[in-house]
Amino acid sequence: MTSPATWRIGDTTITSIVEAETRHVPVEAFYPEASAADVQASLPWLPAGMADDDGSAITFRVQAFVLRHAGRTILVDPCVGNGKHLKMPFWNGLDLPWLDELRACGVEPADVDLVVHTHLHEDHIGWDTHCVEGEWRPTFPNARHLYVGDELEWASSEERRARDPGPFAESIEPILTAGLGDEVAADHDLGDGLRFVSTPGHTPGHVSLEIVTSAETLVITGDLLHHPFQFAAPDVPEIGDSDADLARRTRKDFFAEHARSGAVIAGTHFPVDPVGRILVDGAAWRFEPTPR
Ligand SMILES: [Zn+2]
Ligand SMILES: [Zn+2]
Repeated sequence: MTSPATWRIGDTTITSIVEAETRHVPVEAFYPEASAADVQASLPWLPAGMADDDGSAITFRVQAFVLRHAGRTILVDPCVGNGKHLKMPFWNGLDLPWLDELRACGVEPADVDLVVHTHLHEDHIGWDTHCVEGEWRPTFPNARHLYVGDELEWASSEERRARDPGPFAESIEPILTAGLGDEVAADHDLGDGLRFVSTPGHTPGHVSLEIVTSAETLVITGDLLHHPFQFAAPDVPEIGDSDADLARRTRKDFFAEHARSGAVIAGTHFPVDPVGRILVDGAAWRFEPTPR
């Protein structure tokens, strides 16, 4: 196993722990209103391997990020997990070596101090628990697990649990029962230059994570966008957005703000090269990966 990709920003490192990367996903699978033309608009600058040459399909990655910052080991959005009972057929009952990937960057589960969730979709909470003799147990026993209050309320609602009971029952409830969860505000200050920034629309309590390093500011997006072609086509709604209009406003405000700020961006579902910068490109934006 090659060691996971790591970027150094000042005294902070960010490592991508990939669970799965899938090529040739038809663009309509995640963006029902999009067409190949929307992806084609990004092809002049889109890095190789991120989309098919004709724009008809994209590469989609599920990954978590490990931050090593100010002496802390912080895990952000721990993917789908193994053996989960989920409505999404391609995420149901996975058996993938994600924990080996985590260990390959030198982190044992017991080393994780803090688990952060940008939101509570099933592909961002899964490795919080693992199954031992039919029981879902915390994977990171020494970590506090942060949940934004509005987001936890939404994820634990009757409606969400009736729709797909697995995510709450298997990945959230065992953490709360074990006393390892903390409910926080959408502008929570995590200390050491880390803070949540409210970026709602994809889900009601969605946040991004901002990290002020000794050099530049780093921002982990969460699912305010899923793929870099959206910098060229920011109006296209994504299938999972709970409020498409709010998600669109959030996305465009975020792109404009960080094209100005010059912050380093880590795209939670970005394939191939997930860390880079947002640049203005005519009336829209583009993405420029940062070398490792
Ligand atoms: Zn999501
Ligand atoms: Zn996601």
